[in-house]
Amino acid sequence: MKNYTDTWQHKGLRNKLVSTLRDKGITDEKVLAAINTIPRHFFLDSAFDKIAYEDRAFPIAEGQTISQPYTDAYQTQLFEVQPYQIILEVGTGSVYQATVLAELGAKVFTIERQKKLFGDNKTFIFKNKYPNIKFFYGDGFEGLPTYAPFDKIIITAGAPFIPPKLLDQLSVGGRMVVPVNEGEHQRMIRITKMRDGSFNEESFDYFSFVPMLQGKTGR
Ligand code: SAH
Repeated sequence: MKNYTDTWQHKGLRNKLVSTLRDKGITDEKVLAAINTIPRHFFLDSAFDKIAYEDRAFPIAEGQTISQPYTDAYQTQLFEVQPYQIILEVGTGSVYQATVLAELGAKVFTIERQKKLFGDNKTFIFKNKYPNIKFFYGDGFEGLPTYAPFDKIIITAGAPFIPPKLLDQLSVGGRMVVPVNEGEHQRMIRITKMRDGSFNEESFDYFSFVPMLQGKTGR
């Protein structure tokens, strides 16, 4: 069950979360404003209502998680999203990250491999507010060749390697932000597709994600 009332208490907690993210080094004001606008508790079971604005990951259905807000902000900041850019997200999960990108004015194509989580999106509360989010059920390793190329690609699960088909689906000047397995954790990698077709790779901090898995679930 979800609680879709946004009280002044929720707004106050959201403000505090934004200060925390600022203290942790998030500087992109547009990203911070998006996090301040979006009621994160709408994306979680009402049991998490009181703690939804702690800077923590929480369980959603099917053993998956909504990422820690710091991680969402970090990945989004690395992107430098511009309005009207076309973004592919791998790992819809709770739809929170997709909503942050949509709030920044991007057109978001998001893929989920778990049928149950994909099915839950049919009742996505912000369907009318964010018609710029399109939902797909499939394997993120394949991407969405029909809608390519993408200005940005974000992977929100720990990838065993950089998916080659997704590199093909990146536009020239486009960027992919992907957490790649390194030991127990994932290293955040940013890839930029250069004019000559080569890729520039930069490494950032370590994070912990649920795994990016091959194929899609049948139920
Ligand atoms: N962006 C989400 C984070 C969800 S956790 C949010 O804001 O809540 C990562 C999600 O990636 C999980 O829902 C998991 O099922 C999904 N996932 C893992 N491997 C995938 C793949 N190959 N293709 C699509 N989704 C995948």
